[in-house]
Amino acid sequence: MSFKLLIGQQDLRSLLLRTLDDGKISHAVLLTGPPGSGKKSWGKALSMAILCPHCDRGEPCMKCFSCRSFLNNNHSSYFELSPDGKNIKIEQIRSIRENFYLQGSKKVCMIDQAEAMTAEASSSLLKILEDPPPDLYFILLARQPRLLFDTILSRCQRYVVRPLKSSQLTNLLLEHKDISTENAVLITRISGGLPGYAFKLAEDKDFERRFKEAKTLSYNLATGCDSAFQLLAWALYLSEKEELTNFLEFLCMFYRDGLVQKLCSGESAAWLKNVDSACLEDAVLLINNVIYEINTTNVNSRLLLEKMLILLQRRLARCQKSSECVLSRPEKPTTLNLV
Ligand SMILES: [Zn+2]
Repeated sequence: MSFKLLIGQQDLRSLLLRTLDDGKISHAVLLTGPPGSGKKSWGKALSMAILCPHCDRGEPCMKCFSCRSFLNNNHSSYFELSPDGKNIKIEQIRSIRENFYLQGSKKVCMIDQAEAMTAEASSSLLKILEDPPPDLYFILLARQPRLLFDTILSRCQRYVVRPLKSSQLTNLLLEHKDISTENAVLITRISGGLPGYAFKLAEDKDFERRFKEAKTLSYNLATGCDSAFQLLAWALYLSEKEELTNFLEFLCMFYRDGLVQKLCSGESAAWLKNVDSACLEDAVLLINNVIYEINTTNVNSRLLLEKMLILLQRRLARCQKSSECVLSRPEKPTTLNLV
């Protein structure tokens, strides 16, 4: 995993290469960024560069024994830790001492989801970082660095992995996945520039079906053509789906697109013609709140969805009724046969 094979992230790239070339890489590096942003790929490239004895201006040579071992996933001086269950436990940090305290060549330990360390594990890691062996390097990956001990944060060189530009991610998808340009553009938008998330979507066989269902529901809600009973059936159907969050992101996207179109050009798709921008903004906020609750709490998703769908339909339909225009429903999608 060379830096050359990773795309985008110009600031991060030049900073890391310069630091490596100057020999100033710290014993503890923290890479932060949202899930799917590519922290692990950058962490691996950095690990490989630290371990390669023939680095050229920060780039690993890709040819030596160390690089070849790393690429074959059997480098004896590279060690990866990730949560065992929900947490990274103290025994896992202790195993670093057992595996890595022998003197000799450089060693790298990458800790994925470092914020999942228990307090005991964090204290144990802190003890190592307070007096690190000369050739031991830690690369911590975290999506929420604020959950780490301040005392650990203060000992880390910190770098941020940011989302990619749309054009970069679309090209990356077209290069590596057998998908249409239309789907690559769509996936890029949904993923928010996060390559890990985008690749997962591109490999998801249900992606197009989910997209069409979300389009149907967004239309039905905006035109008020589903009965309360049908909305409850939608809630039950959706609550049993594994990819619920992704479905809601699609749903949100249709209203967000409508909002942007209205604000920018004053026009919109026929089915959103009578819905004003305030209604669309409310819909976007409401769906985003529900996504947040589902991702961060143990809420009953079926009940939450029932409430969301009824509120959405009421809010959007009120707009339609208060309009003087006659509601037109061109190309009405078929409501799914949910019950
Ligand atoms: Zn090498």
